[in-house]
Amino acid sequence: MDIAGNLKRIKAELPEGVRLVAVSKFHPKEAITAAYETGQRIFGESKVQEMTAKWQDLPKDIEWHFIGHLQTNKVKYIAPYVALIHGIDSYKLLAEVDKQAGKAGRVIDCLLQLHVAQEETKFGFLPEECRTMLDEGQWKSLHNVRICGLMGMATNTEDMTQVQAEFRLLRSLFDEFKDRWFANAEWFRELSMGMSHDYHEALAAGSTLVRIGSSIFGERQY
Ligand SMILES: *Cc1c(COP(=O)(O)O)cnc(C)c1O
Repeated sequence: MDIAGNLKRIKAELPEGVRLVAVSKFHPKEAITAAYETGQRIFGESKVQEMTAKWQDLPKDIEWHFIGHLQTNKVKYIAPYVALIHGIDSYKLLAEVDKQAGKAGRVIDCLLQLHVAQEETKFGFLPEECRTMLDEGQWKSLHNVRICGLMGMATNTEDMTQVQAEFRLLRSLFDEFKDRWFANAEWFRELSMGMSHDYHEALAAGSTLVRIGSSIFGERQY
């Protein structure tokens, strides 16, 4: 795998202000080091144990983004160091991140994950569920988390019209939520969407964070 070449090619395609999360899950530390040496600093992982082991062994200026489904009982392991949690899908999880961030003496940046795909298996709030949670307002009393935007995944399909429609829906939810609940929060500005096979569509719809794994590191070895 030409990790440096892949990174260079992908980065050249990203508009100004869009950041790349290099998704290194299931790839060894050597692969991360190769990317790090080209200047890449943001890496995405989806398993708590794996991310923590890599954090312990690799340079401390890496920003670790947790992009998987996070169980509340595991938040404590990543709270001391995680840079951004992409997959907040319940108030309960948000409250637990707040609690563990407090214990670690930190404020943790989080994204609310919205379910817009036509698939049972993808996690996330339904849009209406998320509106209800935001309306209820308890989240405003959590001072150790900062809601920085939204994250979502499109359906895994070859039908790019459907993928485009789902990314546009995420973008419109982002605009709506910004207006309704985060108008004065300048940190609410991230829209995490787009993976190896659909990041062009995500960029066209206004993504600010693309999460790309296999196009950089090759196929994962499970
Ligand atoms: C694995 C994963 C990615 C990266 O997928 P690729 O197809 O390898 O680019 C992006 N986002 C999430 C949430 C993932 O779990």
